[in-house]
Amino acid sequence: MNRVLNFSAGPSGIPLEVLKKAQDEFLSFQGKGYSIIEISHRSKVFEEVLHSAMQKVRDLYGFGDEYAVLFLQGGATLQFSQVPMNLYNGGVAEYVNTGNWTNKAIKEAKIRGINYKVIASSEETKFDRIPEFHFSDDADYGYICSNNTIYGTEYKEMPKCKCPLVVDSSSDLFSRPIDISNIGMFYGGIQKNGGPAGITLVVIRKDLAERVRSDVPTILRYKTQIEADSMSNTPNTFGIYMLNLMLEWIIKQGGLSEILKRNTKKAALLYSAIDEMSDFYKGHAQKSSRSLMNVSFNITKNGSELEPLFVKEAEKNGMIGLKGHRMLGGIRASIYNAVTLENVKTLVEFMKEFAEKNG
Ligand SMILES: *Cc1c(COP(=O)(O)O)cnc(C)c1O
Repeated sequence: MNRVLNFSAGPSGIPLEVLKKAQDEFLSFQGKGYSIIEISHRSKVFEEVLHSAMQKVRDLYGFGDEYAVLFLQGGATLQFSQVPMNLYNGGVAEYVNTGNWTNKAIKEAKIRGINYKVIASSEETKFDRIPEFHFSDDADYGYICSNNTIYGTEYKEMPKCKCPLVVDSSSDLFSRPIDISNIGMFYGGIQKNGGPAGITLVVIRKDLAERVRSDVPTILRYKTQIEADSMSNTPNTFGIYMLNLMLEWIIKQGGLSEILKRNTKKAALLYSAIDEMSDFYKGHAQKSSRSLMNVSFNITKNGSELEPLFVKEAEKNGMIGLKGHRMLGGIRASIYNAVTLENVKTLVEFMKEFAEKNG
């Protein structure tokens, strides 16, 4: 079987052993004679999968009972409006704009008609960095995106603040341990680093879910889903099953601190290659804001011709997903958990050859 090296930004590569396990038990889950996607979400068999996945999220991040773990639908994108609907408390919500995904969240805050403020932005420098800022102590919440998938910037650590922090962590979920202490809620579509598309993981401090007003639709209240164990309606059973397998794999690798070690090594290798060949390649993000997950870069001369050629030749060499996002152009290598150090080495070798041939 011929498997490509997958540098896609999302949906993205899943470890072969996870896919194989799903394949092995697809027709008959645990020898029961039915597939996991063929049974009731209310059955004991499925509930075990659900609770096992929820527990793994708790164990990996290490938080207690004051937080709820939810598996929702509607993508990370629905959270852009669900957050202000549920967490706005009549004061002010503060946002930090670090690119397309926070821009969208800010737009939805506006549509909701809440009192919001953009307290910092890196738009002037084409979102090449995480700006400096401080959230007001009494803000209803402070909103950030911890990893900016398109521009390739990432918070090195969660900002300190007294207000509840809300974090869009779609593209760095399960990639590193985080300090949960001032987090009110973090969330993300799991298709970047945790499985197939169709599930949004939401981790929320339970007391914050009580803020919701009575004009918010029932299904869009976190409170509803906490009470219903994420099964207020039929959840994405197959997605939750796949997430559970992915989490099992992460735990088997040694958990988030081991995953972070690997991700740090992978990113260091790729960034140092870009820096060493700086007459040919140029990274988009400022060094201090570089993402461990998404590495966006350009070719310095003749980019409009050479960048598409790079992507095409990489594909011929069995590497897919390297085309930059349409908003930024250029090249982007997403090096999520399923991408190995070996895979990155192969990419770096290719980059060297390409630079020699075309430089
Ligand atoms: C991909 C992505 C989203 C959007 O996710 P959907 O599940 O497609 O709605 C939001 N935020 C970030 C940071 C992302 O990377």
